[in-house]
Amino acid sequence: MTSSAPAPASATLDPANPFASPSPLPYGLPDYAAVREEHYEPAILAGMAQQRAEVEAIATDPAPPTVANTLEALERSGRLLDRALRAFDNQLSADATPGLEDVQERLAPRLAAHADALAMDARLHARATALADAAASGDLDLDAGTAYLLERLLIRMRRAGVALGAAEQERLRALNARLTILEAQFGRRLLAGANAAAVLVTDRAELDGLPEDAVAGAAAAAAARGHEGAWLLELQLPTRQGVLASLRSRDLRERVQRASESRGADGGEHDTRAIVLETARLRAERARLLGYPHHAAYVAEDATARTADAVEQMLARLAPAAVANARAEAGELEALLRATEGADAELRASDWAFLSEQVRQARFALDDAALRPYLELDRVLRDGVFEAARRLFGISLAERTDLVGYHPDVRVFEVFDSPEPGRPGEGLGLFLGDWYTRGSKRGGAWMNALVDQSHLLGERPVVVNNLNVVKPPAGEPTLLTWDEVITVFHEFGHALHGLLSDVRYPSQSGTAVPRDFVEYPSQVNEMWAWEPQVLRGFAVHHATGEPMPEQWVETMLASRQWGEGFATTEYLAAALLDQAWHRLAPEDVPTSVDEVVPFEQAALEAAGVALAAVPPRYRTTYYNHVWGSGYAAGYYSYVWSEVLDADTGEWYRERGGLARANGEAFRRRLLARGGSQDPMTSFRDLRGRDPEITPLLARRGLEA
Ligand SMILES: [Zn+2]
Repeated sequence: MTSSAPAPASATLDPANPFASPSPLPYGLPDYAAVREEHYEPAILAGMAQQRAEVEAIATDPAPPTVANTLEALERSGRLLDRALRAFDNQLSADATPGLEDVQERLAPRLAAHADALAMDARLHARATALADAAASGDLDLDAGTAYLLERLLIRMRRAGVALGAAEQERLRALNARLTILEAQFGRRLLAGANAAAVLVTDRAELDGLPEDAVAGAAAAAAARGHEGAWLLELQLPTRQGVLASLRSRDLRERVQRASESRGADGGEHDTRAIVLETARLRAERARLLGYPHHAAYVAEDATARTADAVEQMLARLAPAAVANARAEAGELEALLRATEGADAELRASDWAFLSEQVRQARFALDDAALRPYLELDRVLRDGVFEAARRLFGISLAERTDLVGYHPDVRVFEVFDSPEPGRPGEGLGLFLGDWYTRGSKRGGAWMNALVDQSHLLGERPVVVNNLNVVKPPAGEPTLLTWDEVITVFHEFGHALHGLLSDVRYPSQSGTAVPRDFVEYPSQVNEMWAWEPQVLRGFAVHHATGEPMPEQWVETMLASRQWGEGFATTEYLAAALLDQAWHRLAPEDVPTSVDEVVPFEQAALEAAGVALAAVPPRYRTTYYNHVWGSGYAAGYYSYVWSEVLDADTGEWYRERGGLARANGEAFRRRLLARGGSQDPMTSFRDLRGRDPEITPLLARRGLEA
């Protein structure tokens, strides 16, 4: 410890602080009527101090280690911190203020150090090891959930470096600190570089094809940067830029594409290549220090994939089918291109989205605007999302207007373990729905848990779903796009994982599963939006009560597969690139920035996904997932989860789909188990075998 370390905060907290004691409200819902912004920081600081004291007592307990005085005591520790931090994290993501963001910035390094100190405590490690030894020698009998808890604790501590010598731990801390700085630097440089690379248009005619609201947006963006009377096309994070689907000018499309793909590699002040190389080298060094051949192996071990080779094999099995379909799509698009541009015109990456959209409109003629009146939020929830859960899992939801959330738009529902709502308080847990967008909410959609289900602590779950649907004027219905309907089902799939959890230990509750598994139940839940029995129930015109025309459903299903060759190939190229960078030993990481782009090209060619017209979804130099955030060597997770999802969809279909018996099996064997056993054991319990890849290929239309 250095002299600059902050003094430990007092473990005592003003009893008037709403987090000071467990919430008196049903299911431990935070008392939002009483919570104010200034309550969070002191509660979190006191929570850390309290947990440090609790952990100290466990570590120095003179009694020999037992499950109760070590494992359970650890699970019981940190209740105040847990209460306050969960509420804080949720509010920061869903309704942030500058004040909360300041708290976050102040607390982030202290929370990281708090977690590290716990994971690297040699005394705790010795107690856990003694328990594992006793279990191995037969002196201690552990039930499966406890054995798995112990196994995971030891793995987590080893991965944090608890078993290293002092000098190595010192080096590990230095590597972690430097990597944190590099990740933040990458993010900032990428953002500044993307802003600088935005494409300025001075001739309105060049924007032909772009929708009026997008033209207005581009004019406003240009004006904001001092270019009155011009138009600025700002860049989005992936390679693919939204404006390319509508711009008719082939030259402008090409300029936008070049601006997108050259981000971070132009040699200027926003060049990210040196950061990429140092990050790759330090991650490789850290992996070696911890006993792994490379960073990809370190990441995979903690995921359901287990090994980097398993990841690579799965990606390699998908790639040929995806590439074959992308080539077929390219053939169609090139024919279309040549009809207007001449017989020897060659399809470029910048043409793809525009031509693909032409095909989609000609072939499927689906109009989002016509669809939306049939997709009203309340109806989608009641007769779609909740109804599917009722028929599958035998649960019901009832709104509790007597309970308030952290914002007036939040709605609170009590969830009952019966097909009809029971009496208040006899339920399974609470579900909070926060579907509307607001300036204080981050983008996207996600699920949070405010309270984890746990038999040890006697707690029932409280979970939140967040979306970013535009709120209509007062008194008007909330009409959704089809994508939003799918997102509502998806996020409720995460909510079900938390709500139907049935485990002893809070750290194993619900969604406490690896990253390459957690998207699986949520993706499975999307299938019920397409199920005719469910769809007919919720897709009803909000004003006339007419059901959605049957043939629209067919068209929607058919159009789902158009473009999957491109989408899968660009995704796989990025996932393979992520693996390639993180399968290097420290001494094999290129040393010159001039080697970055050639390394990328060689990796794509070696994997068979180097198509000129289908660049990776992210190129190395603007790959924020892997250099700017914690997704390094983990970008494969999306498709890994989708393999499990598609295979489970097949399992449901083989058994008659939407039926109570099927839902019960999925609930008991999979959702209820959470992280209390190896997740792939849960999958095999359900499926009766290892996952197969064919259902995913079929769904994406990628069969030979
Ligand atoms: Zn998700």
